[in-house]
Order: sequence, then structure tokens, then C-alpha cells
Amino acid sequence: MYPYKAHMKKAIERIFEKPARPGMVGDGFRVYNYIPGAGISQQRISPFLLLDFNAAFDFGPSEHIRGVDVHPHKGFETVSIAYKGSVAHHDSAGNSGVIYPGDVQWMTAGGGILHKEYHEQEFSKKGGPFEMVQLWVNLPKKDKSTPAHYQAITKEQMGKIVLPDNAGLVNVIAGAFNGVKGPAETYSPVNLFDIKLEKGGELSTTLPAGYNTALLVINGHVEVNGHSANEHSFVLFKNEGEEIDIKANEESVLLVLSGEPINEPIASYGPFVMNTQQEIVEAIQEFQSGKFGYLE
Ligand code: MN
Repeated sequence: MYPYKAHMKKAIERIFEKPARPGMVGDGFRVYNYIPGAGISQQRISPFLLLDFNAAFDFGPSEHIRGVDVHPHKGFETVSIAYKGSVAHHDSAGNSGVIYPGDVQWMTAGGGILHKEYHEQEFSKKGGPFEMVQLWVNLPKKDKSTPAHYQAITKEQMGKIVLPDNAGLVNVIAGAFNGVKGPAETYSPVNLFDIKLEKGGELSTTLPAGYNTALLVINGHVEVNGHSANEHSFVLFKNEGEEIDIKANEESVLLVLSGEPINEPIASYGPFVMNTQQEIVEAIQEFQSGKFGYLE
């Protein structure tokens, strides 16, 4: 008997391989830029604006603390996910914290903030593999000026699904996976899943057809809806069908991102993402006149 299928499988639009060269953000983040650099426009993948992946890299032990010094953001959220190593953060709203493997730092820049991001001091001294993702999530027009704030989410706080047959574990950062909710508060519907699959492990889930949905293979090699996705490849789904079926050919770590598109104009200039060019000009003026606060 064929099982009754209530959902259609999500079609795959394209599987992007890892971009040819990494770029440096400051001197601490050696990142491959998938969104928008690999050719995935901010409108196509809305509400996601940027995805930088620091694929595992050993910076070596250093007394000098590597990272990126004080810089502004306005109009969106920065989401940092640590896989290996640890990252420290300080911002002009008075928040600071360190994230360790499995933790997430969800910073809502909103109306404007200054921050700096560094390798955590002890990790920096010791060295070792460093692996992380930074994702930028847009804010709807009505929320772009919300006061800046910060969610420190530890791996213990994530929604957890232990997959049957020892297939692996899903950590729900935001949204819901098969009914289990994640802790992050978001301004538009966003699903963000940190998935670990054992070799041979399988999972099945559904996400709305209308949500822009993609998957990054952090480690390993998987079959996604029957298509092979290599390590560091980025699977962009079409907005057709709901079901995602994954099978791991080896032990794998995956990041699934899915969100309801924000159908509003995007005016993007470096660390500012607004709706119009005029708002970009204003954001630069606000930054230059010190309205985003002070950070040493
Ligand atoms: Mn930043």
C-alpha cells in the first residue's frame, strides 16, 4: 500500500555550491557569503538579507583578539549561530554576552545600534576550529525603528526534537518544527532549525509553500527530496510544495531557514537596511551624529 500523502514535496530551485573564495569580516570572521553573494537576491529570499558562513577554520592561538570592531546596524536583525569556538558581543544598548557551540545571539538592531563582535578571549588564546553562521533577518517597515535589543539563546533553551530510530536531533531556534516551538521572538514568521543527523538518519517535515525556504549543509552530505547536497552546499527550494525529506549519507549538520516573505521595498547600504534611499541617507546621518549611542 502507498501511504497517503497530504503534502507535496517541495521542489528544488537550485543547489548552490560553496562560493569560490571567502572574504574577511574584520580579522576574525572568514566567511563565504551565500546571500546575496552567490546570486540569491534579498527579495527572492526575503525576509533573509544576508548569510555569511565561516566554514570550520583554525585561526591558531592568538593573544590578539580577532574580530570586528565597533560598527553600526539599523533596520534589521543579526543572528549569530556558533557551531565551533565562541564569540563575544558588546553593544551600545549595554548588552554583552558570549555564545558557545549550539548557542545563538539574536540582536534586533531596529532603530539603530553600535556593536562589536570578537572571538571570546580564552578561545582566542587557545585557538582551534572556529565555525559559525551570521544571518541577517529583515524587519517589516512598521518595526524598523523598534528600540534595539538582544536575545541570548543557549542551546539548552532551544526547542528539541529527538528523531526516532536514533536519526539525530533538531534544535528549534525560531518558529516550529513538527509542532515543537523555538524560543526566539521574531517580527515576522521565521523558522530556523539547527539539525544534526547521524549517518543514515532521516527526517521529514513540512513548511508552508509560500515561505522562502533554504538549507545549508554545514557539515556532511545529505539527500534532500531525492537530490544530493554536498558539504557546504546551499539548497534553495521553489515556492511549491510543503514537504522536505532528508536522508544523511554521513553524519551531517544542517541549517534550515524558512520565512514568510516581507513584500516591501528593500533599500540596502552596508549595515543599514531600510525601505527607501531617503531612509538610508537618514540612517547614515543618525549614525554620524551619534544617535546610535556610544561604544568603546
Ligand atoms: Mn555586526
